[in-house]
Amino acid sequence: MRARILVVEDEEALCALLEYNISKEGFDVEIATDGEEALIKIEEESPDLVLLDWMLPKVSGIEICRQIRASAETRNLPVIMLTARGEEDDRIRGLDTGADDYLTKPFSMTELMARLRAVLRRTRPTLSGDVATFGDIILDRERRRVRRGQREVHLGPTEFRLLDCLLQRPGRVYSREQLLDLVWGRDVYVEARTVDVHVGRLRKALNRRGEKDPIRTVRAAGYALDETYS
Ligand code: CA
Repeated sequence: MRARILVVEDEEALCALLEYNISKEGFDVEIATDGEEALIKIEEESPDLVLLDWMLPKVSGIEICRQIRASAETRNLPVIMLTARGEEDDRIRGLDTGADDYLTKPFSMTELMARLRAVLRRTRPTLSGDVATFGDIILDRERRRVRRGQREVHLGPTEFRLLDCLLQRPGRVYSREQLLDLVWGRDVYVEARTVDVHVGRLRKALNRRGEKDPIRTVRAAGYALDETYS
């Protein structure tokens, strides 16, 4: 599921830039250009995060933030406040406004995305890429837990990283050397055969009850998640 971001900003050029960059990151974007529209969209679209300009026509960013926190439905809705240099005062520095974070304009898109992801990770872990699923397998990066169907799968740290790596690109065949680089790191000297040992352990943990094996061995090439599995 993609996180929905509501951008509340009255500067047209910045709005377009934000919309372009945030959707490029894989989020759904809604736009509101004044405070009233923002309040309506917060209620109707139930966004996962609001990127909120401080100075807005009709209803100010601070007032919107206050209303978000006052309503039971939106109390936990994450807010990142945008301020122009000079507008920020002690209130926003201390985040007394109820915002989860704030950015001072001008800011880089890289910075914004980092903050956005950090706030989402904290508040909406299932939407921030911390959870990967493949068929009945669920890998939760934040809690470092794996489930298959209703069953908890106990994995060692290497098997966990190995599964995480395979889950990022189902169907893609990873050679043993690629897996060594990605899972063990480039600086570690490990024999290619070690990969086979850990894939074996991962399979054993995943397929404990004789379930279908989600990992495909590609002769002379390596391993992949079987795309016909899910
Ligand atoms: Ca403004």
